[in-house]
Amino acid sequence: MEPGTDYAIARRRMVGEQLEARDITDKNVLRAFLEIPRHLFVDAAVGSRAYDDCSFPIGYDQTISQPYTIAFMVQSLQIQREHRVLEIGTGSGYQTAILSLLARDVFSIERLAPLLKTAERTLSGIRTGSIRIKTGDGGLGWSSYAPFDRIIVSAAMRERPATLLDQLAHGGRLIAPISDSAEHIVLFAKEAGNVTERRLARCSFVPLIKGDG
Ligand code: SAH
Repeated sequence: MEPGTDYAIARRRMVGEQLEARDITDKNVLRAFLEIPRHLFVDAAVGSRAYDDCSFPIGYDQTISQPYTIAFMVQSLQIQREHRVLEIGTGSGYQTAILSLLARDVFSIERLAPLLKTAERTLSGIRTGSIRIKTGDGGLGWSSYAPFDRIIVSAAMRERPATLLDQLAHGGRLIAPISDSAEHIVLFAKEAGNVTERRLARCSFVPLIKGDG
């Protein structure tokens, strides 16, 4: 069997058993996970285990998130085609690719330049939507492109993301892992100048680190 076929089977299985069998129902989200070749975002030695129900090391003490965690956060954002999305913590670039199939433009910030370089190389080899990435401290957002309709943070923050909320459009949503005594995925919504927040689930992410590279 062609290796490509193996990966397509593993990908379909991942979508069925890890996403649909749980609570991922958004057709666009499921389609994006069926399309993006996750195995290209991890070390080649991982092979089709890239589609297993877990996170994997990607070097520099960082990880590519578990597929379900990404799907859950992305689905909770309710991204629409015309949206401009800001992602903090590009990492492998896998979630960046998923987001780019759902939104009009994706802006992504990664603190570690070598990770970003690898992510850029992987992303340039596959079909994606519009993506712009840079190195820096994502906690500061990307003011020249603000406001964003949606913001997703992929590393645990110790405090409320005040600067990022300032860069969120009205009617916008921001999702982030926030750790105080415990760690939760928190969904913020901005309506008529008011920000509401809701804890969605317990989680475990690598920490967001202030300052760049
Ligand atoms: N969604 C990514 C997750 C990568 S892990 C994936 O699935 O591959 C989280 C990433 O956040 C790491 O690459 C880490 O380097 C990055 N990060 C940590 N603090 C950051 C900060 N202040 N600004 C930008 N990126 C940060």
